[in-house]
Amino acid sequence: MILRIDRLGAELPPPSDPDPEGANAVQELMGGRFGEMSTLMNYTFQSLNFRGRQSVRPFYDLVANIAAKEYGHIGAGGAAITSMLTGADAREIVASGAPAHALKAGKGVLPIDSGGAPWTGDYVFSSGDLGENLTHNFFLETGARNGKLKVYETVDHPAARALTGYLIVRGGVHQVAYARALELLTGADLTKTFPMPRIPTDKIPECRPHLERGSHLTLYRFTPDDYKEVVAVFKGTHPETGGELRVEHPAPEGFPWPEEPAEKDVFAPDYAPGEIAEIAEKLRRDAGFKDDVGRRAA
Ligand code: MN
Ligand code: MN
Repeated sequence: MILRIDRLGAELPPPSDPDPEGANAVQELMGGRFGEMSTLMNYTFQSLNFRGRQSVRPFYDLVANIAAKEYGHIGAGGAAITSMLTGADAREIVASGAPAHALKAGKGVLPIDSGGAPWTGDYVFSSGDLGENLTHNFFLETGARNGKLKVYETVDHPAARALTGYLIVRGGVHQVAYARALELLTGADLTKTFPMPRIPTDKIPECRPHLERGSHLTLYRFTPDDYKEVVAVFKGTHPETGGELRVEHPAPEGFPWPEEPAEKDVFAPDYAPGEIAEIAEKLRRDAGFKDDVGRRAA
């Protein structure tokens, strides 16, 4: 089961100038072959399939725990795309090359790639062979980081930059994790054989805050009681920086969603959003909620 926390792993700026073309580019990181839906579903299905789970527990814990993290990346990616579409003219979105963002999604994210193709289960590799799966996952993370760097370079919207800065660093942790697991299983060190992608994260301003808090060295656990044996695999030094790898629980508290106002020209959340808000406000009051809408106590 997944414990869902209503926060984002990355701090995204509030909606600013809309960027429908940029939002379409970021879709590649959501629904593309190397996107977050692919990493989530690859590791999820591999963990569902895991035979001999108890006897090879550290490897199972690694794959299953990273799957949970990928769910969080979908949250951050979805929030960034929706934020970039906020305030855009629906006609402009239709003309921008991704009309479905307005016509299907009410100026929101979709499970599609940058060409509009739907994400597909064909992107999932889960053969049951642990060595194959780990090798596949290393290259999946490699492609994912390359994709993020391309989006970083081609989209200058601040939400896209904040998202990709975060994901490039976090994807690096997963690359290291799968390489280390394979090294411990077979003796082959993929980080030496295939040192890629070569991303100078310390030169990317949006990566730096994550590096400064050691995020590139840290695998977070998303449950108080499970996946503890991940420490038997995720250990040693980082192949690029030499820092000591570590596993932490709980994960950082995260950040609130950017506030996404109603968009009347696509009827989101309704043709008359004020009416829904009134109904919701009455329901909240009747249920005893006070002014602090959906916020955590400070
Ligand atoms: Mn990811
Ligand atoms: Mn990943």
